[in-house]
Amino acid sequence: MIPYSRQLIDQSDIEAVVEVLQSDYLTQGTQVPAFEKGLCDHTGSKYGVAVNSGTSALHIACLSLNLGAGDYLWTTPLTFVASANCARYCNAQIDFVDIEKGSWNIDVQSLSDKLETAKRENRLPKILVVVHFAGLPVKLEEIHQLSLLYGFHVVEDACHALGASYQESPIGSCRYSDITVFSFHPVKSITTGEGGMAVTNDQSLASKMRLASSHGITRNQEQMDRDSEGAWYYQQVSLGFNYRMSDIHAALGISQLAKLDRFIANRKKIAGAYNDKLPALSLKIQETSKDVQSAHHLYPVRLEDDGYDRKLIYDKLREKGIGVQVHYIPVHLQPYYRKMGFVPGDFPVAESFYKKCLSLPCYPSLSDSDQAYIIDELTKILN
Ligand SMILES: *Cc1c(COP(=O)(O)O)cnc(C)c1O
Repeated sequence: MIPYSRQLIDQSDIEAVVEVLQSDYLTQGTQVPAFEKGLCDHTGSKYGVAVNSGTSALHIACLSLNLGAGDYLWTTPLTFVASANCARYCNAQIDFVDIEKGSWNIDVQSLSDKLETAKRENRLPKILVVVHFAGLPVKLEEIHQLSLLYGFHVVEDACHALGASYQESPIGSCRYSDITVFSFHPVKSITTGEGGMAVTNDQSLASKMRLASSHGITRNQEQMDRDSEGAWYYQQVSLGFNYRMSDIHAALGISQLAKLDRFIANRKKIAGAYNDKLPALSLKIQETSKDVQSAHHLYPVRLEDDGYDRKLIYDKLREKGIGVQVHYIPVHLQPYYRKMGFVPGDFPVAESFYKKCLSLPCYPSLSDSDQAYIIDELTKILN
């Protein structure tokens, strides 16, 4: 089966991991700080906190912004559940903003309307988590303007978007956001097996995130309430978690990061070939704009409303060995969120996208012949 996505591991990745295995430190050695610095250099951000997953990175981002009971976090329904769950970990309430018809990213007009209503009802969000769906950056500058007007924080869930750019700045520069979060799950732009990172330009947020990722424990005198009692001394100053990344994972991350530009160039070439061939078929592709470059994490297509049955096309492609996927079941329709009162019809654009969407295989090592086969089979089925 041709998968919808997969990692690309080479000999240098393997050697990097083996080297750590043969060294003195499997965790908390030199690799994690070096990976943090590498990703900061690549994205143009000042501080990076490496953790054991993108989900953990979202959680510590919310904690550092003091999200808690009585607060609201908003995100879009067309995402992985983790973008919303981070609110619930902090006992905050969740609400959603629908997506645009063309780009399938957050609809800034809906956001603006919803903010105006929320302001009147005194329930403005503390945090907006924006998702760069499929790797395509959202309209960050416009969202930043709204955040200044209504006073909320912006966290970029960039789990799809490492390697993307917005107005010539890499995603992760945090030019228009407080914190940007990445995942290094095997299907993402680069992998550490499991892993994630939160980056920011704000030193105080970085220091809160670091504490939250490691038990709330510090060895930094400035964060303690009294003098150190010796070189062994540490203090737990808040309640944190053990979300740390190991040096084994970070070594793989460093090795992968060196190949990020090449991975993205390959994804771009694959997306370009789909872009050339697919619009002739009765389906829609993601609409982009001039000031953004996608990381092409996914290649989603949307079948016509009155046309084909998605399940039928999904099954037929799978029978042909083409591992298409569906991204995403709208989060508000998950039983856990329905219990909070969300119902079908709440976010119609995301719901109708879900009924007709398919993600086609898109990953750096997808061969030209496999891609030609995918396009061929899809063309036969749709005609
Ligand atoms: C992958 C992903 C996450 C979670 O990342 P993990 O590293 O798997 O925890 C969060 N949000 C989105 C949009 C993702 O695609």
